[in-house]
Amino acid sequence: MTQVKTFRRVCSVVALGLLFGCTQFNPTTENEGTTSGWSEDGLPAYDWSEQEIREAVNTARAGRSLQPMVWPEGGKVAVSFSFDVDNETISLRNGDTSVGALSQGEYGGRVALARVLDVLASDGIPASFFIPSVSMMLNPGMVEAIKSHGIHEFGIHGWIHESNNQLPEDVERRLVVQAVDYMEAMTGSRPVGYRAPSWNFSQNTLKIIQDLGFLYDSSLMADDRPYELLAGGEPSGLVELPVEWILDDAPLLNPRGNSYSSPREVLQVFKDEFDVAYEEGTMFLLTMHPHVIGHRSRILVLKELIDYIKDKDENIWFATHQQIAEYVIQMAEEGKLR
Ligand SMILES: [Zn+2]
Repeated sequence: MTQVKTFRRVCSVVALGLLFGCTQFNPTTENEGTTSGWSEDGLPAYDWSEQEIREAVNTARAGRSLQPMVWPEGGKVAVSFSFDVDNETISLRNGDTSVGALSQGEYGGRVALARVLDVLASDGIPASFFIPSVSMMLNPGMVEAIKSHGIHEFGIHGWIHESNNQLPEDVERRLVVQAVDYMEAMTGSRPVGYRAPSWNFSQNTLKIIQDLGFLYDSSLMADDRPYELLAGGEPSGLVELPVEWILDDAPLLNPRGNSYSSPREVLQVFKDEFDVAYEEGTMFLLTMHPHVIGHRSRILVLKELIDYIKDKDENIWFATHQQIAEYVIQMAEEGKLR
């Protein structure tokens, strides 16, 4: 089993590296995983027993849906925007100190965040801001800018946007603890939401955030609706608010990436995703990054999307991730899920 576990762990590095490498908005960061040596340590997956396969998928798996019967305020659908304020941290976590890449990240705090906040403020829409500690360290004014609106949530996004699946458990845990303490000191309140940097969930991440008492995670992709997160097949006590790469501005709007789409095309994808969420009465959760969506030709996408959503129905519940997690827990306790 040790060999199998080693093989599995290395395989997950490979798979996540392939998956996440193409989604970084800075092409110099495409080295999160490595394929070297992955087949040398253990059995190939086709020789695993059923128990080993089940163990492999059960690290963090979807439990019951937490889709409520109704959303607050008569909302036909819940809409929740998150902004991962990565700025310079993706370069820094790779040890990349190239000035050009750092300046591209610097734009996020220097210019783009203010545009994002202005658009949200014009419609009074709350959002969740997941910020690596080092982003706050380099641009502490961002915290006050976000706080000044009084409606937004702060969530954890690592210390320096670290690659969780490349870290020993004790290092990953120490960095999350550091990040929570740093954010509490900077914002004045303890965050309840976790988003793994690059959505990179290690074999240990769930246990760590469970131990630290987080209310919810927003890094995994097993549903469109909120769901209960299982650890080893048992309820973890955490709500999962799922994400998706097609509901993320970074992969499609990287002009140097291999999947670039124009902002107008991306807007159409987001509209179509919202339309089906609306018909289903479920949840539309969109991940964005100030240094991606906050450029002039992209901020228009966010503005048009909000206009489109508001024109569709005046009863849309715009909420932070925390508000959604708290609400679905309450509905679950009252037996009001569907
Ligand atoms: Zn990020």
